[in-house]
Amino acid sequence: MAQNIPFNKPSIVGNEIKNIRDAVRRGQLAGDGAYTDKCSQHLQTLTGAQKVLLTHSCTAALEMAAMLCDLGPGDEVIMPSFTFVSTANAVVLRGATPVFVDIEPDTLNIDPVAVRAAVTPRTKAIFAVHYAGFPADMDALAEIATEHDLFVVEDAAQALGSTYKGRLAGSLSDMAAFSFHETKNIISGEGGALAINNPDLMQRAEIIREKGTNRSQFFRGQVDKYTWMDMGSSYLPGELIAAFLYGQLEAEPAIRTRRLAVFDAYMDALAPLRASNNILLPQTPKDCTGNGHMFYLLLDSLQMRSAFIAEMRKNDIITPFHYVPLHSSPAGEKFGRAHGALPVTQRVSETLVRLPMYFDLGGDIETVIDVTLKTLGNTKRGTL
Ligand SMILES: *Cc1c(COP(=O)(O)O)cnc(C)c1O
Repeated sequence: MAQNIPFNKPSIVGNEIKNIRDAVRRGQLAGDGAYTDKCSQHLQTLTGAQKVLLTHSCTAALEMAAMLCDLGPGDEVIMPSFTFVSTANAVVLRGATPVFVDIEPDTLNIDPVAVRAAVTPRTKAIFAVHYAGFPADMDALAEIATEHDLFVVEDAAQALGSTYKGRLAGSLSDMAAFSFHETKNIISGEGGALAINNPDLMQRAEIIREKGTNRSQFFRGQVDKYTWMDMGSSYLPGELIAAFLYGQLEAEPAIRTRRLAVFDAYMDALAPLRASNNILLPQTPKDCTGNGHMFYLLLDSLQMRSAFIAEMRKNDIITPFHYVPLHSSPAGEKFGRAHGALPVTQRVSETLVRLPMYFDLGGDIETVIDVTLKTLGNTKRGTL
């Protein structure tokens, strides 16, 4: 019987287990030990950021970013509707309002034209998502932010190792949030990091992450006792997570190379679908490099997507879709608002489907390509 081909499979790629044993042997299992330090250093190189703080998730890093933007009731944050819920939750948890705008049809990233149109006197920040690992148009967003004195935050959950005009994702704004959830490129089960480039935010970031205390300064010997300084929470991961993560980070170049090879193989094999069936494939934005995070197809209709997913499943291949647009979700309607119509978001949410993409996909990619071509190759527009 054919093996199921899932859409994601977490892999051990190097020293993860060895590092965990070493962390146990060292005797510090709480956070901010030797492995957290190693990961932070490594991530500074890999993101080009001034400072990187390990967190227990990207969701946590986004919550920290929202606090560091000093968001409160009445403030507005412009973000894409086509994103994961955490981008918006971070803002809502501060009592502020997410303002949802449309994405560009070619990159599926936040549309700077829509952002500019959505700015009001209450706007305080732009949260941009680097969808599928491809950086958003950060120069255009920076221009708007400078004009209106706004923070810019990258939701870089999917974008570790990607570049924009020769600069690394994570170095392109005030702050960037990364994810090491098992569905991302570099994993620790759950995990994340906040990269900080704005020097005014660095000290407060450390305090917020350590339950609102200046414990980090205390450990560095900069103060002789630590105390409650600010609001905060416990955002740091334990050393076992950091030890696992470090094993992955050491193998980052190999992981990225392998995923990009899968991406390119899908691109080459499926490109013929484009002309014949009104099917769109991902495009690497101008002056950017991706990280092979995701491979998606944009099909011709919701009906065609449902039929495709069913046919793939019959062949034991799992091809999920996402996201329900946040502006039309129950919480999005309650806590946020859309600015203008969001036709691209609506269409993409109905037609996008993801193909299996993971480190150990190996020869199974041939099966996925064969079944995809068979299923979509001889179809007429809008049907299967
Ligand atoms: C995965 C993801 C998140 C959440 O990451 P966690 O580490 O699971 O909290 C946030 N935003 C985007 C765009 C994501 O893809």
